[in-house]
Amino acid sequence: MSFNTRYIFVTGGVTSSLGKGIIAASLAKLLQARGFTVTIQKLDPYINIDPGTLNPYEHGECYVTDDGAETDLDLGHYERFLNVRTSQANNVTTGRIYQSVIEKERKGEFLGKTVQVIPHITDEIKNRIKLLGKTGQYQFVITEIGGTVGDIESLPYIEAVRQLKWELGTDCAVVHLTLLPYLATSGELKTKPTQHSVKMLLEYGVQPDVLVCRSEHPIGKDIKRKIALFCNVSTEAVIEALDAPTIYEVPLLMAQEKLDETILAKLMVNNPSTLNLQRWNGFLEKYRHPSSEVVIGLIGKYVELKESYKSIAEAFIHAGAVNDCRVKLEWIHSDGLTEENVPEKLGKLQGVLVAPGFGNRGIEGKIAAIKYARENNIPFLGICLGMQCAVIEFARNVLGLKDAHSREMNPATTNPVIDLLEAQKNISHMGGTMRLGAYPCHIEEGTLAHRIYNASEISERHRHRYEFNNEYTSKFKAAGMVLSGINPAAGLAEIVEVPTNRFFIGVQFHPEYKSTVENPHPLFVSFVKAAMA
Ligand code: GLN
Repeated sequence: MSFNTRYIFVTGGVTSSLGKGIIAASLAKLLQARGFTVTIQKLDPYINIDPGTLNPYEHGECYVTDDGAETDLDLGHYERFLNVRTSQANNVTTGRIYQSVIEKERKGEFLGKTVQVIPHITDEIKNRIKLLGKTGQYQFVITEIGGTVGDIESLPYIEAVRQLKWELGTDCAVVHLTLLPYLATSGELKTKPTQHSVKMLLEYGVQPDVLVCRSEHPIGKDIKRKIALFCNVSTEAVIEALDAPTIYEVPLLMAQEKLDETILAKLMVNNPSTLNLQRWNGFLEKYRHPSSEVVIGLIGKYVELKESYKSIAEAFIHAGAVNDCRVKLEWIHSDGLTEENVPEKLGKLQGVLVAPGFGNRGIEGKIAAIKYARENNIPFLGICLGMQCAVIEFARNVLGLKDAHSREMNPATTNPVIDLLEAQKNISHMGGTMRLGAYPCHIEEGTLAHRIYNASEISERHRHRYEFNNEYTSKFKAAGMVLSGINPAAGLAEIVEVPTNRFFIGVQFHPEYKSTVENPHPLFVSFVKAAMA
């Protein structure tokens, strides 16, 4: 039976940070739970080609896909909710749009014509949206438009939505997310900001089909009727979105409000299958009622901004639920850590995770934390820079190479146990040039990694320029560090372990990117288990 791909747009009004990504992911989850194939795309109105060159303080974590795209952290939510991989096509920025239009202009593809925002930029945006539909893999493409309606930057995107709405007719719907502020003095929820943001959308020629209203208090029928009256939507199309204790509850709240049913009716999809959220509910049940708790320290240099380590924090939620355990993360700044204060700061932890990162700041604190974890047999997981620090710590304190370092931090070290990748040596441009995306890794039998993965061949995602220096392999092996995972083509060490410890493992890749609600990552699951023991 043929099924026209349906396109759903999610826009935001009133203010940023309303959670468009979670609403988009929740709607996608509900459609998927009715048996449809769904993907989600994020359009970001900034000029960077991708968020890879932004520091985490600007934009939170940079999420990496299998195909090596450096993307917005919302793509992580999409994968975690849907358990479906995303790709480069799922995140497009204004920079990328302009870059391709300008390249086409230089090639002469618009010969004789003036290149303009409308139609050239808007056509490029529309093509990028329809690209995912054209793969034939998805019945629904949900496109989240970054930013807030009214921003100068997002105008071309809203214009593209207007045009597509016209072209696609009933195969297209627009969900607009707004805020109902609560005024404590009068004890009222106010609808005016919502009315204004819908008016602004209307000025651009876009009539939203559904309004999702974020609110701290229940909205009630009267307010829904009022919003419906002012905004040309039916009362059922005004959806209440209350603050939820966890993002994973949001699909259920949206199901109660019938967001999916309302959208399907708008898109003339008749007689959909019933909702099957059995696995999702199974996870939530365990998440809500854990029988134990562990405290794990997350040591990094961006800890004041938790968005920087989004995927790691979420991976612990998934892994905790499997273990029937709540993982309490203690966010510890590596900047302030020293060998002297480490016992006091880490003494009560049941596990230590050293986070990924770049640059010199906080590096000695990370190394001190790893030394403490190794010497006191505290379960340890090092990710990317965290793994590199474990190698440096081992070199300094076990091999006795006192000045051992990464060339990233100390280019002049006489013991560069972590060195620039060969393939990186002639690279001058910073954007999109790291070792990125999924690479295979062979795991040696009889190692901790093999027990964790229960497999010899795995694939994990990378984002780095530096790597374990194989000139030191025999020294490390002789002193008891096991290089348990190797990239077969390049011979790069991807996993290191100290087998005399209960659980001490560092990985050059980022397992956190691949953990989903329905597929928690085995490394996190085993790490939490070790912390519980
Ligand atoms: N800065 C290190 C490198 O480039 C580690 C990167 C990371 O942790 N993602 O190799």
